[in-house]
Amino acid sequence: MATASETRVIQNLVGGAWVDSQSDETLPIPNPATGETLARVPLSTAAEAHAAVAQAHAAWPVWRDTPVIERAHVLFRMRALLEAHVDELAASVTAENGKTLAEARGEVRRGIEVVEFACGMPSLMQGASLGDVSRGIDTTMLRVPLGVVAGITPFNFPAMIPLWMAPIALAAGNCFVHKPSERTPLTSNRLAELWLEAGLPAGALSVTHGAKAVVDALLSDPEVAAVSFVGSQPVAAYVYATAAAHGKRVQALAGAKNFVIVTPDAQMEQAAEIVLSSAFGNAGERCLASSVVVTVGDAAERLTPLLVERARAMRVGDGADSATEMGPVIRAEHRVRVADAITRGLEEGARLALDGRDRTAADAQVAEQDAGGGYYLRPSIFTEVTPEMSLAREEIFGPVLSVMAAPTLDEAITLANRSRFGNAAVICTTSGAAARTFQMRIEAGMVGVNIGVPGPVAWFPFAGWKQSFYGDLHATGMDAVNFYTERRVITSRW
Ligand code: NAD
Repeated sequence: MATASETRVIQNLVGGAWVDSQSDETLPIPNPATGETLARVPLSTAAEAHAAVAQAHAAWPVWRDTPVIERAHVLFRMRALLEAHVDELAASVTAENGKTLAEARGEVRRGIEVVEFACGMPSLMQGASLGDVSRGIDTTMLRVPLGVVAGITPFNFPAMIPLWMAPIALAAGNCFVHKPSERTPLTSNRLAELWLEAGLPAGALSVTHGAKAVVDALLSDPEVAAVSFVGSQPVAAYVYATAAAHGKRVQALAGAKNFVIVTPDAQMEQAAEIVLSSAFGNAGERCLASSVVVTVGDAAERLTPLLVERARAMRVGDGADSATEMGPVIRAEHRVRVADAITRGLEEGARLALDGRDRTAADAQVAEQDAGGGYYLRPSIFTEVTPEMSLAREEIFGPVLSVMAAPTLDEAITLANRSRFGNAAVICTTSGAAARTFQMRIEAGMVGVNIGVPGPVAWFPFAGWKQSFYGDLHATGMDAVNFYTERRVITSRW
């Protein structure tokens, strides 16, 4: 017999009320560590998405006309609530996403920082004015909200990415319609409950669960002024083109293939830690993961053995266990996709120095978890990877690290710049000159120097380049304030 959690279907938030979806299509939400069904998510219909937008649009004048200082008070209360619920939210993220509790706490913290940034909206939204642009004529520029904005989010940061969007959009005076990932929708509902508790008026925030039908409705609804999207590159390209064709402002943050360059003078112990935490943190399901390391000169000889030895020793398990260093991947099908990428790497001629599909030796623990229904892989490391291999070009989004070699820093940078993606890039070095050359020449928006995961910092834009980003104004920082507001220029004579 099905348990209560296996049959519980989570609700949508519309017009300030929690309602059942009218759709009879639902998907299970498994805990990736155990396979246990936590609840079910409805695949809401296009009509439900349009209804949520209509409710938000009806609610907008009240929220728009609420003074920005009062809107900021809601943000301050939200900050306090998030702070009080960090552990609970982290547990929710771990349960539905699989990452470790420490990683989950980290993402909630990064989300809280965006709320802190948005608390400053009375300053951030200020415009400019100039007296006597002509005799007796003054000009003033005001920032005003857009109306209803939609946010479409991915599975890998169920707390942080919704919090990249909603706090800034709402503080700026917009109504926010959220379509969470159908794979990790539970934390979004908890966040929405906290927003209501913080005093957000009915309709200012809504949550419509579902998949493509809901996204397509939001992209075409005439009352949606702007769309914020975070997800994979093909869907980002589609969202960007489709929403733009419907006359909307769009920011679409996409996939990645991030490179870390290690120079021969780098502190190898530190470099190994940086590479491992970047490649295998969140089981590699992170758009800032460095999944290719390019060793310069003889750095490979010292770095590669360290990487293999330490990755082999990593404790893989349920993220809820505090001893776990790497959790499972999101779904059984995703584990198959990652394993297929490993097989393709072997077929293309790379050398598999550590095989995360291996079920022997240290893996008694993983085998046991597999039997219990979790979606586990251990870290994999390829060496002898060349630029034309899919390992060097395609996002795998799993715990697979590729090691390439280059004779000089210049050639390492050229290798990295061949990527069609440009989210992040990292250098491990003790040379200021090498770091400077790297940060000036690398084609990536977020650059780390002896830092494995460069960002996100709420006060700055999340600045992907190339096919890692579609749009003009990025998420967070002043870019987001400009994205969620329109500028009105008033010229007057009295
Ligand atoms: P995804 O593209 O599968 O899904 C993202 C959202 O789009 C979800 O809400 C989903 O329901 C919706 N969606 C999926 N397919 C769709 C379709 N065909 N039409 C319309 N909507 C669709 O992404 P994911 O697997 O949830 O997330 C992982 C991806 O997100 C990775 O590629 C990762 O690099 C990327 N990501 C990027 C950033 C960034 O800041 N650049 C941050 C986090 C994740």
